[in-house]
Amino acid sequence: MFCPKCGKDFRGDCVFCPYCGAQVAMPVQQQQVRTNAVAVVGFLLAFLFPPAGLICSIIGLIHAKNCGDSGRKLATAGIILSVLVSFIYSVFGFMLLMLLV
Ligand SMILES: [Zn+2]
Repeated sequence: MFCPKCGKDFRGDCVFCPYCGAQVAMPVQQQQVRTNAVAVVGFLLAFLFPPAGLICSIIGLIHAKNCGDSGRKLATAGIILSVLVSFIYSVFGFMLLMLLV
């Protein structure tokens, strides 16, 4: 796919050019939903299963960086949240272990 503004060739189905930021395709609803879905899933998984949430959020962030998508903030929040939740779970797990022993 070629950018109509800077003429650079790039892979993927990005809505915005990764080089100059020009809009190269009409924002397709499905593309935006799919990109944000990874970030949303990562954000939700951060509560349920932090390691999976962290992986999903990183994938979401990488995709958001390539396409200049708005899911970047959510993916970043998901990464921070995954780390925080896993830390909290570790502390609680340790406390529970101390209570049982
Ligand atoms: Zn461009």
